[in-house]
Amino acid sequence: MSATTVDRNALNFSGGPGVLPARVLAETQQAIASVPGVGLSILGISHRSDWFAGLIEQIERDLRALLDLPDSYGVLLLQGGATLQFSMVPMLLLRGSGRTAEYLRTGYWSAKSIVPARLEGEVRVLWDGEAQGFRRLPMVDELEYSPEAAYLHYVSNETVEGLQFHCVPGRDGVRRVCDMSSDFLSRPIDIERFDLIYAHAQKNLGPAGVTLVIIRRALLEQVPPGIPEILDYRAHLQARSVYNTPPVLAIYVVSRVLRWLREDIGGLERMGALNRCKAECLYGVIDCYPDIYEGWARPLDRSWMNVVFRLKRPEWEAEFLDRAEQAGFSGLKGHRALGGVRASLYNGLSLQAVERLAKFMIDFARHGI
Ligand SMILES: *Cc1c(COP(=O)(O)O)cnc(C)c1O
Repeated sequence: MSATTVDRNALNFSGGPGVLPARVLAETQQAIASVPGVGLSILGISHRSDWFAGLIEQIERDLRALLDLPDSYGVLLLQGGATLQFSMVPMLLLRGSGRTAEYLRTGYWSAKSIVPARLEGEVRVLWDGEAQGFRRLPMVDELEYSPEAAYLHYVSNETVEGLQFHCVPGRDGVRRVCDMSSDFLSRPIDIERFDLIYAHAQKNLGPAGVTLVIIRRALLEQVPPGIPEILDYRAHLQARSVYNTPPVLAIYVVSRVLRWLREDIGGLERMGALNRCKAECLYGVIDCYPDIYEGWARPLDRSWMNVVFRLKRPEWEAEFLDRAEQAGFSGLKGHRALGGVRASLYNGLSLQAVERLAKFMIDFARHGI
């Protein structure tokens, strides 16, 4: 790997696919040539081999250790991204239930999740942030949950707008389903408050192609009839995540990211502290220069993963992005749905990279315009 490649990777603030730790990139490069101990390229190892079954087991062990996940939950590696879960969840939990599913509509991704749910049954949008431009999350007293709901669905971190729940919404006794695609394993969670969690890999965990699902096994006791086997969580559990050919390379990278999280970072408490520090560093600069920068999210709901902001004058934005690019930073342009600037601070991004961006932003605010 050339020096320039390393540097550009180190300053990759992309919203997704996200940056991965240098150790993981080096191990993946090695595995493409030849997996240590196997002697074959990862691209040519059978998904039916004992080695691969062992890899899946190791991923499950690492996840259980990181999350303190009891055996009453199953762990699945699926395909189809988070978007397929927008359909699989209501197929399993809403179809034919005669109940209503409750959804929090807090941004771009949760809005998308509601559309396929409506195909499966009654959906009630419990709170909708669109009229206020998706700049804040609901307060506890704005939410009236029904005790009869089939489940509550929400997105823990709205990746596009940079809004993150810093508490767990919902009512105990009603199933809680969460799309954690963009903040999974970024800090500790109280796992037993959730019934189903899904997260694709490409923000915090690895490359696109694999999606993690953690499901309370009791949910699988009443699966409605007529679901194709490939969309039935039970088939994947039974097949130990090898129902059909899985993305072996992507899964390998996930296994290395989990090792890095345990061995190099030291677990989710440490990861959370580091991520908080990274986020505070950038929000601190934004707040320090209110004539230049304007944060998108209400401060209470600011995301530790995606720092979304605008330049106070739209004409400064292109200049800011251009100069950032020249200074070696990548991926800072905001999501096409929102514009502005988005600095994504996923697990793989170092504190040093964030400090460099903070310094760049201070220089720009002082001398840039
Ligand atoms: C990126 C993202 C998605 C989209 O996931 P795909 O894997 O592309 O289907 C869904 N939800 C959230 C919260 C995201 O950040």
